[in-house]
Amino acid sequence: MQAFLIKLVKFTVITIAVFALGWTVFILLPDPVFGPEQDVELGKQVVMSIEESGEEGPVLAPEEYPEAYEHLNRIVDKLVASSAIEYRDLFAYDQVRIIHNDEVLNAFCTPGGFIYVYTGLIHYLEAEDHLAGVLGHEIAHAERRHSSIRIQKQFGADRLFELIVLTTPISMRDAWALSILAELTGLSYGRGQEAEADDYSVRYLSDTDYACNATAGFFEKISREGGDRVPEFLSTHPASENRVTDINRTALNAGCSTELGDSANWAAFQASLPPRADAAEPSGPAADAGDR
Ligand SMILES: [Zn+2]
Repeated sequence: MQAFLIKLVKFTVITIAVFALGWTVFILLPDPVFGPEQDVELGKQVVMSIEESGEEGPVLAPEEYPEAYEHLNRIVDKLVASSAIEYRDLFAYDQVRIIHNDEVLNAFCTPGGFIYVYTGLIHYLEAEDHLAGVLGHEIAHAERRHSSIRIQKQFGADRLFELIVLTTPISMRDAWALSILAELTGLSYGRGQEAEADDYSVRYLSDTDYACNATAGFFEKISREGGDRVPEFLSTHPASENRVTDINRTALNAGCSTELGDSANWAAFQASLPPRADAAEPSGPAADAGDR
């Protein structure tokens, strides 16, 4: 009987040890398993999907709109030069693209830092600082890996690895990439992630000659003017008024400059885009009433 008890104790101790070891290994696994290098690979799949599906609108070719891309790259370069940017050398911040869709007031950044800006947003904003603010916010989502982590939870890291290494049939990859794109352009960032992206945008902007609270400029304009083209930034709590207050408080605490920078190039940037569809029809609906 005693021998049996000793065996039982041994068995129990070994079992517990094995479980404990298993849990230790599990807990020590890096979180997320999907690293920033894979974010870039995942981003490439989304880029292919955007370019091939054309669902978001045609992407302006840099060789056809060199002036527009010069302006946009100049703005992105200033932000990415901030000391608070972690993945400057890894992420694809130098491959920013403009989507020709005047109806959409939005911009987004894929995992791995592929930035997309809609012509509608560039036409809508009144100052270069405000676009820099929106871009800073989007870059923060990539830097903080918000969409990457969310997409991993939704699709599973294993399936995403398959997507990246192309072991899945092309049609399946397209479907995944499209649903990831829908996530990015959709409404699914959480309140905490939005607040964090706002907060980081202040940090990035404070290292530039733009107003460090410039992200608030966009919220102020759209909440003043409303409309049904509400983009991702306003889609989640907290309400835009609270976000303006929070951004201004962060800027005040940081002691950074809230003076608007030089917007001398802004009108030239807007003019370098394809002509607006509604500009040719002055009698059409005043989608941009009060814009000028
Ligand atoms: Zn956001």
